[in-house]
Amino acid sequence: MTDSFGFDTLQIHAGARPDPATGARQVPIYQTTAYVFRDADHAAALFNLQEVGYIYSRLTNPTVAALQERIATLEGGAGAVCCSSGHAAQIMALFPLMGPGKNIVASTRLYGGTITQFSQTFKRFGWSTKFVDTDDLAAVEAAIDDNTRAIFCETIANPGGYVTDIPALAEITNRHGIPLVVDNTTATPYLCKPIELGATLVVHSMTKYLTGNGTVTGGVVVDSGKFDWSQNDKFPSLSQPEPAYHGLKFHETFGALAFTFHGIAIGLRDLGMTLNPQAAHYTLMGIETLSLRMDRHLANAAKLAAWLEADSRVEAVTYAGLESSPYHERAGRIVPKGAGALFTVSLKGGYDACVKLVDSLDLFSHVANLGDTRSLIIHPASTTHRQLTLEQQIAAGAAPDTVRLSVGTEDADDLIRDLDQALAKASA
Ligand code: PLP
Repeated sequence: MTDSFGFDTLQIHAGARPDPATGARQVPIYQTTAYVFRDADHAAALFNLQEVGYIYSRLTNPTVAALQERIATLEGGAGAVCCSSGHAAQIMALFPLMGPGKNIVASTRLYGGTITQFSQTFKRFGWSTKFVDTDDLAAVEAAIDDNTRAIFCETIANPGGYVTDIPALAEITNRHGIPLVVDNTTATPYLCKPIELGATLVVHSMTKYLTGNGTVTGGVVVDSGKFDWSQNDKFPSLSQPEPAYHGLKFHETFGALAFTFHGIAIGLRDLGMTLNPQAAHYTLMGIETLSLRMDRHLANAAKLAAWLEADSRVEAVTYAGLESSPYHERAGRIVPKGAGALFTVSLKGGYDACVKLVDSLDLFSHVANLGDTRSLIIHPASTTHRQLTLEQQIAAGAAPDTVRLSVGTEDADDLIRDLDQALAKASA
């Protein structure tokens, strides 16, 4: 679909054509496991990747393919691979780059589940992670060694809402010939297109704003198509004969689509973290209204953050959209439409007041999720960031005296009234 269309048009039309068999205007849910081959030669050509088509829904499915094209278009990427969750997307993104003994350099400010995945579970693959404050560019540079295969960060970090200087990190990864992987879950392509700022790969938990209403678990990896996988010997799965696909050289064969083809032909085939077509349908529906929802999320978040900051019961608010935030200037560059709708609040009453606040809210839901149309609240230190040490929690912006708000699209005055009555109870 032509890139000259605006975001509001692309979020509805990209990847979706009237169904060639029936004319159905909405993307059908192709609830099928397999696809009939025309003949033996057709089957062989598909398996050889000489012809693009559908074989088996663990690898490809037309409903999922429409979603992949839509997200790749919105992010400005060459291709995208959907998978079963945001965590699956992180493995799918790193799998072609990594091997035993290799490491990544990752921001200390990440979703707690990601910190645990990177620091504990990746160890079992022989991968390791060096966590660094990505505001300290000298420390990022110093952490890179001969075995480093990527830098990983979040555009707007969960839970603190801190904004990452993606162009500064891209300058470092370019110099070292390694990719920059950006988790754009909390910003969405409406607020930030990391590829335009120099990212190589973008990952999402589609579970959040892309679907937008708390109905789906899903993930996606978007490839910029701009990275030269053959510039050094660090990425043999993409630049050298790949033994898992009878010696095919993905970069030489598929050029800008090398990473995407690898993700489908080997990542989905062998790791099996497939997105089902029903989930793809819900996410396609969600994305149709992404910009409309995000505008309301932004307006509500800005209003609530300003109200909370002015309240005497509140110690601090981390929203990067506030002029008092140390990230305010950077937010203007990286997420110029607004700093998202996720931030933390610390209360003068400390831990006890945080717990009481969470328990006293009526309209906010106490859940382990974000990016829903409903406003959500959680105490990260005892939940999403629970597996972390106190030091890691503080570095991630999830100190014990902090609650995280994911501001929804309800009437902002109703949300403020709810916060007001709960703060009264929390500070009594
Ligand atoms: N990235 C971020 C920023 C998240 O907040 C989450 C989940 O909360 C994930 C990734 C993981 O996504 P999923 O729960 O879909 O696996």
